[in-house]
Amino acid sequence: MKRRELMALAGLGLGGLARAQAAATYSADDLQHAARLRGLGLADGTAWGLVQQLCNEVGARPAGSVGDAQAAVWAQAAMRRLGLQNVRAESTALRVWQRGPAAARLVAPQALPLVMVALGNSVATPEGGIEADIAWYADFDALKADTSDRARGRIVFIDQKTERFKDGRGYGAAVVARAQGPIEAAKRGALALAIRSIGTDTDPIAHTGATRYEIGVPRIPAFAVSVPDANRLAALNADGKTLRLQFTLASKSDVEATTQNVIGEVPGTDLANEIVCIGGHLDSWDLGVGAVDDGAGVSITAAAAALIAGAGQRPRRTVRVVMYGNEENGFDGARLYGDRYKDVPHQLIAESDFGAGRVWQLKSRVQTAALPLVEQIGQLLAPLGVALSAPFNDGGPGPDAAVLMRRHKWPTLQLSQDGTAYFDIHHTVNDTLARIEPAAMAQNTACWAVTAWLAAQSPLPFGPAPL
Ligand SMILES: [Zn+2]
Repeated sequence: MKRRELMALAGLGLGGLARAQAAATYSADDLQHAARLRGLGLADGTAWGLVQQLCNEVGARPAGSVGDAQAAVWAQAAMRRLGLQNVRAESTALRVWQRGPAAARLVAPQALPLVMVALGNSVATPEGGIEADIAWYADFDALKADTSDRARGRIVFIDQKTERFKDGRGYGAAVVARAQGPIEAAKRGALALAIRSIGTDTDPIAHTGATRYEIGVPRIPAFAVSVPDANRLAALNADGKTLRLQFTLASKSDVEATTQNVIGEVPGTDLANEIVCIGGHLDSWDLGVGAVDDGAGVSITAAAAALIAGAGQRPRRTVRVVMYGNEENGFDGARLYGDRYKDVPHQLIAESDFGAGRVWQLKSRVQTAALPLVEQIGQLLAPLGVALSAPFNDGGPGPDAAVLMRRHKWPTLQLSQDGTAYFDIHHTVNDTLARIEPAAMAQNTACWAVTAWLAAQSPLPFGPAPL
């Protein structure tokens, strides 16, 4: 930070400025311990071990399922074994969606079975399914712009493509087709919605994910087809052919269930009532085993807390690991956490939920006076291949943490993972342990241990977050 900026913001005289600058620095001891955690983390196999256990012993764990409950039992036992304290599960009631069998095929201009999956929350088709001609849209914007009645009585197909980027912004741009497609299609009288999978792969697999309905708009069934099948449909459509689809889709909505957050802590010392909250989400989609989404995140952050707990120095603030329930389809865990802990000061709210790739960038969302501390954290992370480049105070945490940051103005540090390959397998059958590189899990563990430790030792509150 610039000296002039600090003076202007704080309205300090020179003496006050000197005090503020002196305060906004880590002690040599704290930095030295951070460097030690960094070295230990790089050699630590704990996160890789945890994610293997979770995926092999429990597997898929959609919120409210048997797998979800088993995961919560596993997570508490794992946290205790790691030496975390105050380990507990905090439950909440919710209504969940359950997938049933589904199939789709092209019936004209040629017969072709399609690789497809229902989108999360999709209503079922009537018995016997739905057969209709396709109304083709190049992307979601084209559907939104359509004021004709071309979609009426048809199956809307949105050919939205997902571009590959390290930071995943191609997903951010495309996912609206999945989330809002059924609403816009139904408003135009469509019978159903089909989309090109929101994914960057070219494999014969389809990507699920939550979709939404709107009160007052008919709820129509919705599914995604694989990228190769979407390419074939697009080629036929480009030839001017009329495409006709038939599909059946079974599902149950509003099934009463419970889910939970699982929590474990490294208790603090003089500032123990202030929380450095890290974690990921324990639930997954049902197609793979949720190895990268988000077995990796809960394992990395638990391993980082365990590293801090076992490294011989207790943190000033309490380091808390939260494994959230139902990130994928409703954020029930994040809301439960916010309701329960809204009055507890949070020094940090941060989440690892972008796969298992290496961390390459640090960002923050902290009050101005804490920016020099973020720069020091950046220096500690630099040997791990992590860059801090201006402007960096526009960071966002993972999805659950973002809900909490926005709601409570809790500050965050963002450890951006390399997401180049993440959307090849996101929400698919290919979300398995084979997609994780063990050494990358250790690099993540080192990054999170350094970050959580220095957040806990900060001479200043990081918050409130400038939003
Ligand atoms: Zn996730």
